[in-house]
This record gives sequence, structure tokens and C-alpha cells, in this order.
Amino acid sequence: MTSTPSTFPALLTPTISASFQQYLCDNPNSRRVSQADKEALIEWLTNPHKRPLSQKEFSRRNYVRKTFVWNEKTQHLFIAATAVGDKDRTVVTEDMIADVVDFVHKGNGHAGWDATWKDVSNLYYGILRSDVIFLLKRCQICASNPSKRPKGSAAIMRSPQLVDQEPENSVNTGSMRYDISDCNSSGNNICPGE
Ligand SMILES: [Zn+2]
Repeated sequence: MTSTPSTFPALLTPTISASFQQYLCDNPNSRRVSQADKEALIEWLTNPHKRPLSQKEFSRRNYVRKTFVWNEKTQHLFIAATAVGDKDRTVVTEDMIADVVDFVHKGNGHAGWDATWKDVSNLYYGILRSDVIFLLKRCQICASNPSKRPKGSAAIMRSPQLVDQEPENSVNTGSMRYDISDCNSSGNNICPGE
């Protein structure tokens, strides 16, 4: 999963990957999907003999079966589009978040935070807006080209000490529940290299 030396790495440098891993550890969130979460989802979808052991599991199973789709042939776990114009959203596990954001961000020509978040959230499940922002703040290409910076980020750029106070987790989450209680106290300051 390391980038080749011949291509200029934008987001997936060893330093950024390491600090992003640290950030994920410091800011756990139930909307992200671990490898174990994904296996549990697939099990609910594929194993008719697995029985819910509690009311909570029963509800969980119903929710999973209503929401997620597993394509055995392509080994693809996704949320099927429900509205016209929507697209299927691929479930992304934590270890793949940086790769997916890198892929989308390069694909849209290093668009800003909002545009990249829109592209990510339209096509993927399991990535938070704050994850996208964490990575884009560190993009080498965007940093070296001020015209690539989103207009809305000017105020934030002037006061970097306020960045961690920004309610990134509470913005644009659609119908999903907010889940920032775990993140309020620590912030990102303990990440190495900050
Ligand atoms: Zn960029």
C-alpha cells in the first residue's frame, strides 16, 4: 500500500499515512467501518442461520438487511441507491479511507474540501467529512498551489490554532446521527508532527 517513488505522492506519503492512522486512533467514530464490522455486516447478509441473540441484534440485522447489499461474485459490499440520481455507495473500511480520498481527490483535479467531500459521500460509506478535511489539509499539491484552496478556507488558514475547534464532525452528515462525543476532549493536538 505504499506509493511508488516515481509518482509524486499527494496524500499518501508515509508521514501523512502515519499521522492519519494516529488521528483515526485518537478520534474513534462508530460511523467508520472496521474490518470486523465489515465481516459482521457480510455475515448478517449471507448467513441465514445466524440468529440475533438480543432485541438490539434483531434490530441491527433488520437494519443491515434493509440497507446493505453484498455481491458475492464481485465481493462488493455497498449501500444500494434509493433515490433517482443517487449512486450505489461502496462500504470503505478504515484502512482504505486514505486511499479512497486520495483517489477521489486526484480524480477531481484537487478540488477543495466541499467538492471532494461531496464526491466521497456520494460514492462511499464509512468516511467522515473530518477525515477528508484532515487529509486535504495535508495535500502537497494543494499546499503548493494557493489557487487550489477552497475560498471558504481563507479564514481558517489565518487562524490555525482554531482549526481543531471547528465542528467538522457535525456538518453535512445528512440523516445520520452526530457522534462527536468521543472527540471533544482530545482533539488532534497529540498527533505527532503537529
Ligand atoms: Zn490536493
